[in-house]
Amino acid sequence: MITRTPIAVHCEEVEPEAPVFDTPGDWQQQLRDVIRDPAELCRHLGLDVEWSSGARRGHDLFPVRVPLAYLSRIRRGDPNDPLLRQVLPLGAEGDDVRGYVDDPLEERDHTPRPGLIHKYPGRALLIASPTCAINCRYCFRRHFPYADNAPSMREWERTLDYLRADDSIQEAILSGGDPLASPDRRMAALVERLDAIPHLKRLRIHTRLPVVIPDRVDDALLEWLGGSRLQKVMVLHINHAQEIDEAVVAACVRLKAAGVTLLNQSVLLRGINDDVDTLAALSERLFEAGILPYYLHVLDPVSGAAHFDVPDDEARDLVDALRQRLAGFLMPRLVREVPGERSKTPL
Ligand SMILES: *Cc1c(COP(=O)(O)O)cnc(C)c1O
Ligand code: SF4
Repeated sequence: MITRTPIAVHCEEVEPEAPVFDTPGDWQQQLRDVIRDPAELCRHLGLDVEWSSGARRGHDLFPVRVPLAYLSRIRRGDPNDPLLRQVLPLGAEGDDVRGYVDDPLEERDHTPRPGLIHKYPGRALLIASPTCAINCRYCFRRHFPYADNAPSMREWERTLDYLRADDSIQEAILSGGDPLASPDRRMAALVERLDAIPHLKRLRIHTRLPVVIPDRVDDALLEWLGGSRLQKVMVLHINHAQEIDEAVVAACVRLKAAGVTLLNQSVLLRGINDDVDTLAALSERLFEAGILPYYLHVLDPVSGAAHFDVPDDEARDLVDALRQRLAGFLMPRLVREVPGERSKTPL
C-alpha cells in the first residue's frame, strides 16, 4: 500500500539551535562533517523529532547523510521543506510495496567488470566512487552493492582495459555514488588514463557534489578537469530551485570557465517538485546558473521510495502544462529507465 498522506514526519517545532557552522572547512572536511543522525538533523532545523520505528528502520536501511552546506538551504521549522523531504527518512520507507525492488534497473546484469556498467551504445558508465556526499531517500542505487564495485586503482586498469578494447565507446561517464566524492589525486589519475584512450571523445560526470558542497569546485578539481583533452559534460542533479544558492551559482561559473557544459537531471518527486510552478521555477533558476535542463526522470521503483511516486498520467499532464509556460530549451525530457532498453524511454 502506498500511503499518500502528505507528510508523516513526526516533527514539532522547538527552539532552533544556534548554527554550528560559521566557518566550514575545505570540501573534504565538509564531507566528513555531514550530519549522520536523523534526530540531529531535526534539532539543527528547530524541529523536534519523535521517531516511529519505521522511520528509524529507514535510517538503518539507508543512513541519513546531509552536508551542512545543504542544510543551510533548508528552511528552519518547516517539516515540509522540499529539501528536507529529500533527505529525511519517513516511516513509509518500511512499507513493502508491490513492484518496488532493490535493483530496479537490473544493473547487476550489465556489469562486465567491477565498477563498469555498459548498457547503452557509445557510452559506458564507471562507478568512480562508492560514496555520496548526501543520501537522497529516493535514490535508485540505495541498495547497490557498492562494496563489490569499489575497485582499487590496480583493479581499475582491468576495468579500463574494457574501454580500451571497445572503440565503439566514445564517451566515459563517471558516476557513483558520486565520483566527485573521490580525492582529486585519484580523479586526476583516472582522467589521465581516459585521456590516453584514443577513441574516447567525451568525459561526462554525473554528480551532485557541486550542488550539495559547492566548495568541491576548487582549484585542484579545475586543474584535472580543465586539463583533460576530452570534451567535458557535467550532469548535475537538482530537484528544486531552492537548492541553487549563490555558492552553487559561483561553482557553476567556475566550471563553465573551465570549458564544462552543464546539464541537469531531476527526479519527479511527490511532495517535492510535483507541480508546474515548482518545475518552471526550477528550469528558470537552472538557466540563471548556466545549467540546461536535461532529464526529468520518473521515479525508479526502488524499495523504500514508493511514497515519492507520481503516476505517469499525472507526470505527462505536468510536463504538458510546463511546455505551455517555458521556452523550448528550458524543457527537460520526461523519461523512464526501462531495464533492457538501449536508451532512456521518453514518456
Ligand atoms: C543513464 C545512463 C547512461 C546515459 O544515458 P544518456 O541518455 O546518454 O544520458 C549511460 N549508461 C547507463 C548505464 C545509464 O544508466
Ligand atoms: S547523490 Fe545521486 S547517487 Fe547519491 S544518493 Fe543522491 S541520488 Fe543517489
